[in-house]
Amino acid sequence: MVPDEVRSAVEEFAARIDALAPDPGSPSPVTVSLSPAAAHALVEALRSYRDPRDHGRCDQCGTGRLDETFTCTSCGQPAGLFGQLVRERLSRPSAD
Ligand SMILES: [Zn+2]
Repeated sequence: MVPDEVRSAVEEFAARIDALAPDPGSPSPVTVSLSPAAAHALVEALRSYRDPRDHGRCDQCGTGRLDETFTCTSCGQPAGLFGQLVRERLSRPSAD
């Protein structure tokens, strides 16, 4: 386990968390010393972590993540049956 793998795992983790936070703030540098065994365990822990605010992959754009309102953090589309109903309602001509 080389430092670049740990740095990469931490940066991927931070990007996933920041995408779910409304105002994540500015990143700060962090320096830690880890044994190879602890570094390996940390990378595995970061990669397997699932944030409770993360409700899966967006089926509209395919890359974004769904927040607790089941709205995509990338494309802004609502997901699932509710999202389908919203999109159908918005695309329908107004009956007013
Ligand atoms: Zn999306």
